[in-house]
Amino acid sequence: MAQQTDRPVSTESQQIAVDAILDRANLALQRNKFAEAQKIIVSAEEIATDSAIFARTQIVHTKYYSFIGQLDKAASNIKKLEQIIPKDSPSYLDLMLVKAAVNIKKKEFVEANEALKTINILLVNNPERSNVIQAEYLKADLLLHTSNFEEAINVYKRILPELKEEKLFYFEAKAAFNLSLSYYKQNAIEDANTSLDDAMAKATSFGFTGIELDCYDLKYNIEKTLGNYELALEYLVRYNRVRETAGLSLAGQMSNPEILGTIENLQSENNMLKAKTEEQTSELKGREMYSILLFVLLTLLSLLTMSLFKNNKLRARSNQALEGKNSALIDERDRAQDAAKIKADFLSTITHELRTPMYAVTGLTHLLLETEPRDDQKDHLETLQSSGEYLLSLIDNILDFNKLEANKVQLESIPFDLKKRVEDITVSLGNQAKDQLNNLNLEFDKSIPSRIKGDPVKISQILINLVGNAIKFTKNGNIWIRVNQVKQIDDKCLIHFEVEDNGKGISEEKQQDIFNNFTQEGSSTTREYGGTGLGLAIVKNLIELMGSKVELDSKIGRGSVFSFDLWFELPDSNKFYEENSTKGYDHFKEVEEYPEYKKPVRSNSNAEIKPEPKINEENKESTTTPVAPSTQDSSPENTEDKPRSNNDVIAIKQATPKDLIAKKILIVEDNKINQMITRKILEGKNFDCEIANNGIEALGKIKENQYDLVLMDIHMPGMDGKQCTREVRKFDRELPIIALTAVTLDESEKEFYEIGFDDIIPKPFKMNEFFEKIQKAFTNYQIY
Ligand code: ADP
Repeated sequence: MAQQTDRPVSTESQQIAVDAILDRANLALQRNKFAEAQKIIVSAEEIATDSAIFARTQIVHTKYYSFIGQLDKAASNIKKLEQIIPKDSPSYLDLMLVKAAVNIKKKEFVEANEALKTINILLVNNPERSNVIQAEYLKADLLLHTSNFEEAINVYKRILPELKEEKLFYFEAKAAFNLSLSYYKQNAIEDANTSLDDAMAKATSFGFTGIELDCYDLKYNIEKTLGNYELALEYLVRYNRVRETAGLSLAGQMSNPEILGTIENLQSENNMLKAKTEEQTSELKGREMYSILLFVLLTLLSLLTMSLFKNNKLRARSNQALEGKNSALIDERDRAQDAAKIKADFLSTITHELRTPMYAVTGLTHLLLETEPRDDQKDHLETLQSSGEYLLSLIDNILDFNKLEANKVQLESIPFDLKKRVEDITVSLGNQAKDQLNNLNLEFDKSIPSRIKGDPVKISQILINLVGNAIKFTKNGNIWIRVNQVKQIDDKCLIHFEVEDNGKGISEEKQQDIFNNFTQEGSSTTREYGGTGLGLAIVKNLIELMGSKVELDSKIGRGSVFSFDLWFELPDSNKFYEENSTKGYDHFKEVEEYPEYKKPVRSNSNAEIKPEPKINEENKESTTTPVAPSTQDSSPENTEDKPRSNNDVIAIKQATPKDLIAKKILIVEDNKINQMITRKILEGKNFDCEIANNGIEALGKIKENQYDLVLMDIHMPGMDGKQCTREVRKFDRELPIIALTAVTLDESEKEFYEIGFDDIIPKPFKMNEFFEKIQKAFTNYQIY
């Protein structure tokens, strides 16, 4: 047994065994199982005792070196084997095939070509099909590596079916891959891809890991060239995965510079690809973000548009509602304005209509009182008269107030003598003061210019109201009317008016209210003092109309002070007037020079000078005039020796009862009752009266006869009083014409004076006022 065991294995069986082992080693190499291959080769070497057979193992060992990239070792092995292996042996052909392959890998193309030539020579003697095809394959490899792509392609295409036929699967796969590489080098990407897929399938199915790796590498390059980076990256990942599964650690490859270079390249490309992919991903993310933002923006915009649209709708609806309300308010306002106008017109008509019957009441009472009635009748008649006068003042106040409320009151601006105005008021209210056992004191500042420009009627109205109240609410006391100049700037002066009494006073709570319409201090006031509560409202409104404010200082039991300041312009004529007055200026001259300020009252040479109210000259700054009713003595004797103050330059001639006798008065009036009453009143005072029923009749009479005065009604059928006066003034400027009228809403006093009336007597008139004005008409020319 031992002998049998020691007996050397026959060369033949040794060769068979070694060849079988080497086939396994070759397969392991083709599958990149290098460690396994190495082991197999070593085991073959151990078996191969025959030098020729050992040489065969060394050829495979050389292949091993070539596969793992140790090309120099492979080359030196080849060199050694060339010496050992006889040239005519089949192993030499194998060695040459390995040599050609190693030369190509080492890029020793000339040597490779030489090796191929040798192979071809050897093939002549040993034309084994598989060897021929392998030689062809190497030839194509050389062509490929020497950039003869087209030729290489032809050869590969030709040998591929043959390789298959010969079951040279490794070479078949390798040839398919190289064909693909050749196409790729020629930029025939489609063809490259087709043969690459073929190579890949083959390599994968046979487990030729090296070829598989090459395929992935090429695939990666192709996809990269095509710009399919993600796909390229995928092949790179596969490449790495296959390499890792094959146990080809990076370290293990380190010794092979080619592989190392490829890996480095691959890694850098991988990194580049990753960077590109990241860039693309971030770009994509950016785009995604942009799209999201765009979407959000669009959503917001559409929401905004919707809300705006809704808002607009709401606004349009509320606008519509507002418009509706507005027009309703405008309607209401118009209605209110209409109502106010209707009220004003109604009051104007009613007060006007009340005057006619009131004229009969007051007029007839007056006439009856003149007929020396019995004492008890006299009492009744006097009550009737005072009631009538109360009603008249009420009508006057309502009319005034109505005019103020309807903004129909217009301020005049005419030159007038303020002192004269105030004195007149003092005189006319004297009797009233006397009835209440009051002293009426006037303090008038001497420095106030003789003539100022303003609205004398309104000033009188204010003062009459205030002084009238002071008298009414004071018993057995004193009333002071003070008029002082506060300052004079350029052609303006500020005048302070004050009406003081030491009467009952007004409680603090009521002080604000009494300026409101129809407000009195208490209901007892009406019972005790009468009145309407309109007087102070009129005063307040008039003063405000003149741009000022009324002040009140009052205490219960101590009395009241009403005061206000007013600005007045100074007329240019003032200077002229002052200068001439000191030289005994003849006032008739002034009539011609300033006709617009004068009343064209016919002069009466017979008229005598009526004394003025007594003036107390003691006070240098102001004149204090205690105007007791007794001072109203109108006897001519008193007049002669009266010293005249510098300011009172114009003598006021007032007619005496004697003057009035035989004065011829024309009464122009359409109402029969009024005709009768006026006539009787005047005839009672010995006037000679004639009646004209309307304007036309009056015009005819005035033209034909000589009258001393015309009392002209205004509202008459046919030619009215205004028209008639206009006609008269065309031929007679001197005939005194007094309007007997209620000045209504639409009429202004100014208009009457402009037409040519000399005076206005509100109808129905208070007897005192009536006779005062008539008397004035027969008096010499006066300046106001
Ligand atoms: P009338 O005098 O017609 O009642 P007014 O408007 O003139 O209306 O006055 C309103 C009220 O103010 C009066 O009723 C009175 O109570 C009070 N009053 C006005 N002036 C005085 C005054 N000088 N002294 C006391 N009370 C006064």
